[in-house]
Amino acid sequence: MYDFLIVGCGFAGAVLAERLAAEGKKILIVDKRDHIAGNAYDFYNEEGILIHKYGPHIFHTNSEDVFKYLGKFTDWRPYEHRVLGSVDGQLVPIPINLTTINELYGKNLTSDEVTDFLASKAEKRSPILTSEDVVLNVVGKELYEKFFKGYTKKQWDLDPSELDASVTARVPTRTNKDDRYFTDTFQAMPKNGYTEMFKKMLSHKNISIMLQTDYRDIVDVIPFKTLIYTGPIDSYFDYCYGKLPYRSIDFRFETLNQENYQSTGTVNYPTSNLYTRITEFKFLTGQKNEKTTIVYEYPTAEGDPYYPIPRKQNQEIYNQYKKLSEDHPNVYFTGRLGTYKYYNMDQVVAQSLALFRKIKSREEDVRE
Ligand code: FAD
Ligand code: UDP
Repeated sequence: MYDFLIVGCGFAGAVLAERLAAEGKKILIVDKRDHIAGNAYDFYNEEGILIHKYGPHIFHTNSEDVFKYLGKFTDWRPYEHRVLGSVDGQLVPIPINLTTINELYGKNLTSDEVTDFLASKAEKRSPILTSEDVVLNVVGKELYEKFFKGYTKKQWDLDPSELDASVTARVPTRTNKDDRYFTDTFQAMPKNGYTEMFKKMLSHKNISIMLQTDYRDIVDVIPFKTLIYTGPIDSYFDYCYGKLPYRSIDFRFETLNQENYQSTGTVNYPTSNLYTRITEFKFLTGQKNEKTTIVYEYPTAEGDPYYPIPRKQNQEIYNQYKKLSEDHPNVYFTGRLGTYKYYNMDQVVAQSLALFRKIKSREEDVRE
């Protein structure tokens, strides 16, 4: 008899398995894939280069708790991600910053001057409701079209005006020269990769792992007390309120017979090509090798569910599933797919640590 059956071996499932096992609970964690680590899975390809199977994963967080918690299972390699955008035949920093403006417009503005320059271009919007509003409000139409409109259309097959503000709000605008993609306090990559970190998290005598197993195939035959589900919530309820839309990506990998391909970890293509971006893994991992592997990301409608699509009508469908889940007190839903939230890795870890505390306090209440 297991105390918990956990569906999904990504960050959400692994954090809960680790925490509950440490409390003496017996855990069975299953994943339909043939590996642990969910979308953060990395491995050495045939040329010996460490790559991320489901696209580039860069760890960053402002939460000391999350960083310290994961630090129990890995050493870190400091890494600050930098992105260039191919715009008007030039490679310029993204997020838009002082350098971006000066290079695009052939100017030599100071920080104060660029603030005025952007203010003169901005189309003020109030209230800010959509991903279009967010950008127009700060940089105006011209830069919006150069950096956001085309990229967003490729990534989501939607116009920014059809997406919640939170999507493009992930990418700020700066008037200084900071050219880092993220400004979080903690920015680092697990020194030996994500999969090694997950192996350590899951190596506990109370944790059994079953891969290549859909939970539906075992849920009626293996006894357990409580279910934790980190797969897509609409699938759990057999799509009774309809399918929640997800965006998928076709990742095309190329290994090149040269030490280096591009000048930074990721280059975005906001206005050209069918792919959104190219990432060169050796920047992220710090690996030395005479060859290099890059990945192109081609967004698609079909395929594994990678991105929940943040917009009102989807949130409304999700709310129906969430309400239904409240009638199932013995099942906990968590993670990016289980709660239909466009979460980064650190947010999923924080969400799962919070769920662990909730489960623990419920058990304590029952005992009292
Ligand atoms: P997942 O990792 O998706 O795990 C869910 C698991 O459940 C999967 O392994 C799935 O196989 C399994 N499952 C589903 N249904 C079943 C079933 N019926 N039976 C058994 N198993 C099942 N975050 C960052 O912080 N930084 C980044 O740079 C970053 N880059 C990203 C790039 C891309 C292209 C994508 C798609 C995501 C990126 N993320 C990034 C987000 C990150 O991947 C997620 O936040 C995190 O992996 C979510 O973890 P999870 O456990 O919720 O979900
Ligand atoms: N975005 C854009 N142009 C860019 C980078 C991002 O329009 O050069 C928009 C796009 O809608 C994208 C969103 O901002 O989906 C969030 O970007 P982020 O890099 O955070 O996406 P992720 O890494 O999660 O795919």
